[in-house]
Amino acid sequence: MAEAIRVGVSSCLLGQQVRYDGGHKRSDFVADILGARVTFVPVCPEVELGLGTPRPTLRLIRRGDDVRMVMADGRDFTDSMRTYARRRVERLKDDDLAGYVLKKDSPSCGLTRVKVYEETGIPTKSGRGVYAEALLERWPHLPVEEEGRLQDEALRENFLERVSAYHRLQELFQGRWTVGQVVAFHTAHKLAVLAHTTEGYRRLGRLVADAKAMDRAELREAYTAGLMQAMTLLATPKKHANVLMHMLGYFRGQIDAGDHEELLTAIEEFRLGVIPRIVPLTLIRHHVRRCGVAYLAGQTYVTGTGW
Ligand code: SF4
Repeated sequence: MAEAIRVGVSSCLLGQQVRYDGGHKRSDFVADILGARVTFVPVCPEVELGLGTPRPTLRLIRRGDDVRMVMADGRDFTDSMRTYARRRVERLKDDDLAGYVLKKDSPSCGLTRVKVYEETGIPTKSGRGVYAEALLERWPHLPVEEEGRLQDEALRENFLERVSAYHRLQELFQGRWTVGQVVAFHTAHKLAVLAHTTEGYRRLGRLVADAKAMDRAELREAYTAGLMQAMTLLATPKKHANVLMHMLGYFRGQIDAGDHEELLTAIEEFRLGVIPRIVPLTLIRHHVRRCGVAYLAGQTYVTGTGW
């Protein structure tokens, strides 16, 4: 599955020398670790706009209600970048992207907290890159992260899980799909969703229960939006422990008191941060195989995301 996953990326993160100073901002995690598992679609908006390398720096500057993209020599590239970005992100439709990694702080690519020079001349970290803005507007459910945030283990795990789920959604909705397939997809992702949000789990459950009565396009959009929004909320040890305890219930009468106690202890030690989640999860996988619990065997939470 991993070879087929396609992820957009700011070209400089792969080591391409496209920055204003002729350099790059290679990220080892993005280029080496993520790059070993996905096919990248690199884009450098500033080079593709024809600004050349090296080039004077660009800044975001507030002018009234608008934020303009202005070069150090005074030329305003806002309109041309907005037009280029809208066309470029539309063309990404042909790439079937399942995620995007953007370069932080860039006036073109930055996702959050990009410097905006206020009318006072003082910068505030309140902006978003012009290309990133167009990307999110056109692909609001696409998993998007900055390379800086991917240094954080929880954010990285969350991003990779969302990319996998989005990729599976793309596979589901390619070609002719049935409501039954959406229900089966949702059933397989129930515990994964529950690890992120109980409210989202209930909301998606209600949506799928009404699926037959819905227009197909509406169902596809609502399910995609609901799943990706739910998974954006970070799973915590407490939420994971609740899911693991929930799974324990499926072994009632099938495992002996010693195995039950061993699982309970592993879940509690994970919740307290003493051991990693893989320990109780491995025990659960073992019992799922041994006892043949079909519902759990079909859960992506148990089978993993494939990374
Ligand atoms: S941050 Fe974006 S625009 Fe700047 S060099 Fe990297 S890819 Fe190009």
